[in-house]
Amino acid sequence: MNRRDFLLTSSALLFPNLVFAKSNHHIILPTKPFEYFHKKGNGKRILIIGGIHGNEMGAYKAADLLVEMDIKADVLIIPRSNFTSILANVRGYNGDMNRKFDYISKNDPDYYYVELLKEAILDFKPDLLISMHDGYGFSSRNHHAWGQSIVIDENKYKNFDLLKEALYIKNNANKYLKWPVSLINTKTFSGNTHKEQKKALTGWCLKHNIKAFCIEASKQLPSLKDKIYTHFVMLREFFRLYDIKSDIDHYINNLNIKNVIPEVTLKINNKIYKINKNTEIKLSDISDIKVVDIQGDRGSFVIPRGVNLNWRKFYFKNLTLEVKNDFETKYKIFLRS
Ligand SMILES: [Zn+2]
Repeated sequence: MNRRDFLLTSSALLFPNLVFAKSNHHIILPTKPFEYFHKKGNGKRILIIGGIHGNEMGAYKAADLLVEMDIKADVLIIPRSNFTSILANVRGYNGDMNRKFDYISKNDPDYYYVELLKEAILDFKPDLLISMHDGYGFSSRNHHAWGQSIVIDENKYKNFDLLKEALYIKNNANKYLKWPVSLINTKTFSGNTHKEQKKALTGWCLKHNIKAFCIEASKQLPSLKDKIYTHFVMLREFFRLYDIKSDIDHYINNLNIKNVIPEVTLKINNKIYKINKNTEIKLSDISDIKVVDIQGDRGSFVIPRGVNLNWRKFYFKNLTLEVKNDFETKYKIFLRS
């Protein structure tokens, strides 16, 4: 890193609005959305959470597909709890979000999203919360692996018979799964081996009287469809157990992953550009750039390459924007001095 780059980085951190060199262009990116979808209905209240870990695409894509599903219950879906990490395709861009539910510093870039998540859970007060993950490996073959499993924090907690429900899900789901799921009990409160789970979402939920389970596909399944399939087969058993009608069978039998090309609207010095493919733009002396709009699917967003993804505003000389649908880069926009 040369001295100028260092100045750019440190000054931009401390003084995000400081203009310190006339040759630099300025860009403003949109705030990453925290989207939730409430399917209002009667009966059981179900809360489904995906994407706490950003590199678990089966989990957040399955949660995302539920938004379109017809589910006869009161359902709240939060498919992309940790959108920054999804776009970076890493477990936790700002550290493991699933260790931040007990305590999170106000200075943590995840603070806003973790607090929104907690608020949504406490406001909605679900009868059942399911947190979706894609774990590593196959728990049926390796007892240290979390892939292909249903995870409970205790066999029983307060009035919740977690073991009984988890066994029902496991035994019935396995009739349809080529890669069977196992039951994992982390003994979060009674044991010594998984104390860190107290900081995790499900441990936090239980302490707040909310019944919560994790379901895990495996990162090592051959395809994204296999991961989504595992999630749906387990969810279908939860729906059966809670007597919820839905059209999930239709989705299980017709798994479809859309390929949407996003359209990005940039405003550069008051001129509007609509972009939907690799594009190079030659910037004039000092340019003010704003990403005004991103049309596409729910995972469509723009990230700056080589720049801290928590930043929304900064100065640059040359910049590559990656236009993404979740983990996939669809095309790039090159902004050149
Ligand atoms: Zn995970």
